[in-house]
Amino acid sequence: MSSTEQKTILLVHPLGYSARRANTDVARMANIMPPLGLASISAYLEQYDIYNDIIDCYAHPQSDELIFAYLRRYRPPYIAFSCTTSSFYDGIRLAREVRRIDPQTTIIFGGVHVSAMREEILVYHDEVDVTVVGEGEETLKHLLQDGDNPSEVAGICYRGDNGHPQFSGYRKNQLNLDDLPFPAYEKLTGYPEVYELPIFNYPATPNTSCISSRGCPYSCSYCDRSVFRRSFRYNSADYLYRHMRYLNERFGIRHINFYDDQFTFNRKRVEEFTALVKENPLGMTFNCAARAEHLDYDLLVAMKSAGCWMISLGIETGDPDLLARHRQNPDLEMMREKILLIKKAGIRVKGLLMMGLPGETEESIRKSQQYVFSLPIDDFNLAKFTPFPGSPVYKEIKEADGALGTFTDDLERMDCMQFLFIPKGISAKRLEELFVQFYKKHFQRPRVLWGYVTMLWKSPDSWRRFLGNLGGFLTFIKTNRRIQQ
Ligand code: SF4
Repeated sequence: MSSTEQKTILLVHPLGYSARRANTDVARMANIMPPLGLASISAYLEQYDIYNDIIDCYAHPQSDELIFAYLRRYRPPYIAFSCTTSSFYDGIRLAREVRRIDPQTTIIFGGVHVSAMREEILVYHDEVDVTVVGEGEETLKHLLQDGDNPSEVAGICYRGDNGHPQFSGYRKNQLNLDDLPFPAYEKLTGYPEVYELPIFNYPATPNTSCISSRGCPYSCSYCDRSVFRRSFRYNSADYLYRHMRYLNERFGIRHINFYDDQFTFNRKRVEEFTALVKENPLGMTFNCAARAEHLDYDLLVAMKSAGCWMISLGIETGDPDLLARHRQNPDLEMMREKILLIKKAGIRVKGLLMMGLPGETEESIRKSQQYVFSLPIDDFNLAKFTPFPGSPVYKEIKEADGALGTFTDDLERMDCMQFLFIPKGISAKRLEELFVQFYKKHFQRPRVLWGYVTMLWKSPDSWRRFLGNLGGFLTFIKTNRRIQQ
């Protein structure tokens, strides 16, 4: 951290739980993603001479003292915490300490949870002065430059003259993503080495996550889109190409995981990007996520030649009725055809699934298993359905008042690794059993096992990490607990 400029704001990514348990967290063992939103905000603010630093407690769990020392040394007038739902209370814990150290510091919260909860955060949490609703770059810039008139700053919740929480309204003009500088990756201590993509999800190191679009125009029941709402914006092919080249030249990145919800939504952009790579090869590979509707063979072949290594597809469930209840275009046959095309193009496929949605039954789980195991997917992730406060299904479950199932509304445990909602007609115990069975059956299939063996040469670093954390993974299988007490 440089000490020459007057620091205006410290940007913090909380860990989400006690630092002493960080080394037992199986989710951290498998994946540590850079806080891309904070890195983008940081670079944007610097353009306006708003100097700042980032402390990422998820990558560096023992960072509490670092935060407090920073506050004592630089006395920034603002501190901002970017939280998910499960890390929100850890952010609140840090905010209390900040208040104690310097009661004058303005404490800001941003991220998906506060965007979903809006004014409610200020009603229940005195430690928080302002929340940013939606994306942060322009809102924070405006707030930091014009903090005396919060009502003039669109996109925030603040306390009005009467002390009551107010929402200043959604920001109307959204930024053109090509106007943003590349995120300030250099402000993430240890970047890129301390950040790790999911095991078996990359062919080479160093690697990183990256974002080239924001938002999604679809409206799946389980998806919390409180930050970008229904908008969809994207970087041009030229920006995307330059961003990749920058990551390669500056940090030596060899593989990128695009964290976009819909990488291929704009076909023309992807086509142009692949043409740019063809003209001037980058020598890099990448993964992306897409909806099956937005893939075709010609595009896939072009993507493969531009370095596409793996595509993740949201399958969610193989039960057509359950799928139709929760998302648009629930066409499982189309999904199968697209998966076959991806494989034909020579790209790996990862299926993203979910168990425990409202309406889930033993029968739907059986159908889902049957469908998924009939697909030639290379990898899969089965999440435990979690009703996040900003998702449509959260409201539905709350309003149904037990008619859809039992729900434990525990924010700190909302990490898709525990069943907080138990659908009607099935017990929690049975749901857990079926979950473990699903995974077990997946790993018992010879084709799948062989696929992991081939990772020995396709992704040797994954095997190094897997074996290095074997004890932790086995404890997880035994206890079914993400973090040990
Ligand atoms: S789950 Fe995916 S496709 Fe559905 S709304 Fe969310 S981002 Fe869009």
